[in-house]
Amino acid sequence: MRPENGHQARLLRLLRDGGPQSRAELGEAVELSKSKVAIELDRLAELGFVETAGLAASRGGRRSHVVALASSLRFVGIDIGATSIDVAITDGELRLLSRVSAPADVREGPNTVLDQVLDLVGKARADGAAPEVHGVGVGVPGPVSQRDGAPVVPPIMPGWNHFPVRDTLGAALGAPVMVDNDVNIMALGELHAGTARSVRDLLFVKIGTGIGCGIVVGGEVYRGVTGCAGDIGHIQVDDTGASSTPVCTCGNTGCLEAWFGGAALARDAEAAARTGRSAWLAERLQQRLAEGGSLTAADVGVAAETGDPVALGLIRDGGHRLGQVLASLVSFFNPGLVVIGGGVAGLGHQLLAEIRSVVYRRSLPLATGNLPIVLSELGGTAGVIGAARLVSDSVLSTA
Ligand SMILES: [Zn+2]
Repeated sequence: MRPENGHQARLLRLLRDGGPQSRAELGEAVELSKSKVAIELDRLAELGFVETAGLAASRGGRRSHVVALASSLRFVGIDIGATSIDVAITDGELRLLSRVSAPADVREGPNTVLDQVLDLVGKARADGAAPEVHGVGVGVPGPVSQRDGAPVVPPIMPGWNHFPVRDTLGAALGAPVMVDNDVNIMALGELHAGTARSVRDLLFVKIGTGIGCGIVVGGEVYRGVTGCAGDIGHIQVDDTGASSTPVCTCGNTGCLEAWFGGAALARDAEAAARTGRSAWLAERLQQRLAEGGSLTAADVGVAAETGDPVALGLIRDGGHRLGQVLASLVSFFNPGLVVIGGGVAGLGHQLLAEIRSVVYRRSLPLATGNLPIVLSELGGTAGVIGAARLVSDSVLSTA
């Protein structure tokens, strides 16, 4: 099922993003005459996309019918992370109807992980939340070829290179599937339901194990020629004050991600614990080792909350380096908003304060005059909402 022309597609997106509206309001928004908009909406109702939802309040003259997206429309949003899978069912306006998640290891390869995904989709639909599925959006933690619907040389996803994720899930679920990088879908989630709702041009910075950036231009994700736009984790950060420059997983030295991010924080925390520079981290490391684990970025956050100076220093240095990169990006791109998200963004306000101070000091005043830099409010749901948004953009278009 597809809209038949551009007017119908625009009407559907207005209803998705703005909720139920009167025929008169919709006609004004798409600049169509009353009779023309009525014809398109009747056709959309026949196709099963929209339904009438009563009469609007009078604006003088005859009351206009309120139109809404069909209450049976269902999208599935899937967020495959390095260590977990999140699945959600949404309605046509991308509101969450049910959500399930489970730990997973993306390194176990596509067959195992996609079996887990299908299992979770089944659970999310179990209570009748989605008798029919109209589209499935998927985010994966690596670069994706949109044309092939498959990951391309993803560094942390062994066995996934060129694996047909889109076609495999499409065959299993009998619905259109769209696949994208996890950072891009989180940016779309922010655009649809987060702080970025009213913004058309923004940067979404994800600080997880690594660091990436979703670029939204004019309300659309910018992916670049080969789909790896926004891979800011491998921008080199000069740091003459540091005693040694860390080697990155990509083989270069001094990448942003080698300095900061979940993996780098865990490494630096362990070094501080082992050399006795932080008594708090040393004690936590003993606990973790006894449990068979090791220190994580979250431990650094807890240590910072207790006032541990080493942990505070790690967060400040990390925020400073990320701020240096962001200052350049802001001068180059002139966004209306910067949103910081991902697991390590949970380190919170200390980190945000450091990033803000560097960006506001180093970027041009014209670029930062009205530039909010904020933490994501959606947290863990940005990915699944954005995945649903990704496929809805496709299902609600003519192409
Ligand atoms: Zn690198």
